[in-house]
Amino acid sequence: MVAAVSLQNVHKVYNNTCVVNDLSLAIHPGEIFGLLGPNGAGKSTTIRMLTTLAQQTQGHIVVAGYDVTQQPAQVRSKIGVVLQQVSVDADLTVWENMEFHGRMHHIPAAQRQADIRQWLGYVGLSDRTQDKAKTLSGGMKRRLQIARALLHRPSILFLDEPTVGLDPQTRRRLWEIILELNREQGMTMLLTTHYMEEVEYLCDRIGIMDQGRLIESGTLSELRQKHGEGLVMKQQSATGDAAADNRWEYLFFPTLAEANQYLDQQPDKTGMMTRPANLEDIFVELTGRNLD
Ligand code: ADP
Repeated sequence: MVAAVSLQNVHKVYNNTCVVNDLSLAIHPGEIFGLLGPNGAGKSTTIRMLTTLAQQTQGHIVVAGYDVTQQPAQVRSKIGVVLQQVSVDADLTVWENMEFHGRMHHIPAAQRQADIRQWLGYVGLSDRTQDKAKTLSGGMKRRLQIARALLHRPSILFLDEPTVGLDPQTRRRLWEIILELNREQGMTMLLTTHYMEEVEYLCDRIGIMDQGRLIESGTLSELRQKHGEGLVMKQQSATGDAAADNRWEYLFFPTLAEANQYLDQQPDKTGMMTRPANLEDIFVELTGRNLD
């Protein structure tokens, strides 16, 4: 199978600092791939390189069959991009924002009108077409960005922190739109996030980035199997000091049953509990730090 997105030994250096370090990754057609990592891990820089907005210092990137350095225009015609910073034009109406993007992509007028109507309906903005973008809520602006990114019918959609700063209900609504696009249109997606629930809910495969490096990748169940599906949490001290009592030691077990069995065998279970391991636990295990 030809990868939808392929990075081979990609480096990006800013001011003598390697912010993306020897990244190799292939994303399959139709897959939702999530890049998870704390702030500064290099996720946005990776998206910027994949979408022709930044050039890699070293390495080879192919997107939708085109080399990003040699064939940037062809890459741009095949991809939709939703960036972290809201990039809609605040003083244009919703419709005008769409219209402008459609013209930039040379979509013929009749098709442009029909598609604008269709995508604004898809993201639930049909009743706001004549409103200026600045009057929209954060979630609506993000939906407008998504509708706009879809207008030229891309086969791959890049979403950089698509739900950052949105309330949980709006986040859910966007998740549904993303899932539907993937399931119904077969759209390949790469999204970055530092919300582990987002990758757990949306992503077929996950790559964990830290300090410019891809430190782990696979499906959620592969990662949980590899690191252990069951967790025993041990409170480090029970001194009554709130800060100290917040520190936990994590012990991974292949299954939750084995974690429970371990707990049962402890003569003193004070400050101990078990639960299924999640992505954040795996991240902490790998890096010794939290995601946020
Ligand atoms: P993430 O998206 O994972 O939060 P970024 O890719 O935004 O991480 O940033 C990775 C590192 O690269 C950070 O240390 C950031 O300060 C640095 N960086 C990003 N863009 C630039 C730039 N244009 N010039 C210099 N440094 C940059």
